[in-house]
Amino acid sequence: VKEEMSSSVAKFGRRAIKSAAAPFAQLFQRLESDAGQVTILGYHRVVADIAQAERDSIFGLLTSTETFRRHLELVREQYEVLSLEEAVRVLRGERRAARPVAAITFDDGYRDNYEQAFPVLQRLGLPATIFVPTSYIGTARLLDHDRIYWLAQAARVCRLELAVPLRKAGLAPEKIAALNSKLHPLALAEGLVYLPFDLRERVLGCLEEAVGECAGSYPAGLALLEWEMVAEMAEAGISFGSHSDQHAVLTLEAEPEVERDLVNSKRLLEARLGRPVRHFAYPNGCYSGAIKRLMARAGFEVAVTTERRINRRGDDLLALGRICLCEESTRGLTGRYSRAVARLRLAI
Ligand SMILES: [Zn+2]
Repeated sequence: VKEEMSSSVAKFGRRAIKSAAAPFAQLFQRLESDAGQVTILGYHRVVADIAQAERDSIFGLLTSTETFRRHLELVREQYEVLSLEEAVRVLRGERRAARPVAAITFDDGYRDNYEQAFPVLQRLGLPATIFVPTSYIGTARLLDHDRIYWLAQAARVCRLELAVPLRKAGLAPEKIAALNSKLHPLALAEGLVYLPFDLRERVLGCLEEAVGECAGSYPAGLALLEWEMVAEMAEAGISFGSHSDQHAVLTLEAEPEVERDLVNSKRLLEARLGRPVRHFAYPNGCYSGAIKRLMARAGFEVAVTTERRINRRGDDLLALGRICLCEESTRGLTGRYSRAVARLRLAI
């Protein structure tokens, strides 16, 4: 009886301990799962003069140098900031992290990444990855979304009719009618960016011909990186991934074109860096199952999207989510940077 009693006391005791420990177990589980979380931040341009840049170009791509520094200081407080490569090891379960992890990325390879963002990253001792559209780097070529936005803005200021050049470029009448109804240059730029690459280039050629004189030269801030800048940053620990070769919307291109683009971009970047390149950012965030298969075949292991999501262990490495930040996304009610808004943005 005694034995039975002591065993049932022991059982009861174990149960009591178990139930009392349950909330702690949950807490530990939560901490454990937080520790497996990876937040990938996405930036585009970092600019010294935000007011000027906002007049000239797509505002959703801009962060001022000052706000960028504040973002990174906040991120450094709240996360263990790792290179994308190390952050991916956390997602693969190959590395443990005591705190939630963040990785910093940039798309498009703007020259200001070197001039403005790089010094801040160095000062704070933080790693980052820049995804570059390889065929543009080291050339005077600008990205289509910037060209379209600038031309659309000029057309509006000069009251130029865009239907004629768009028709000349071979754009379907329904598409032209739909675009003509969009008054804001941003809406027009969005409508024209999502075209197959060859057609988009033709449209741009015809728009430049029609609007060029009124538009004048493109703003200097739209320039992309030189290869020497890439080399210097790579030397200092910044890593580079591919953002495709031509910056086409991959889901609108034929598969052989996509495959050629991926292979060219990877080869070119590897030759320039002298090391393997396995990371990719989908232009405009567009991908599909078929694109992912081509990606894997080309030798890419990690690809980031623009889907607003925190990544967890076991997630699909060819479709990782990102939190894209810009000046606008962390402005408070006063119109200035707000730490509270920034914290909310990071929390999703
Ligand atoms: Zn891009």
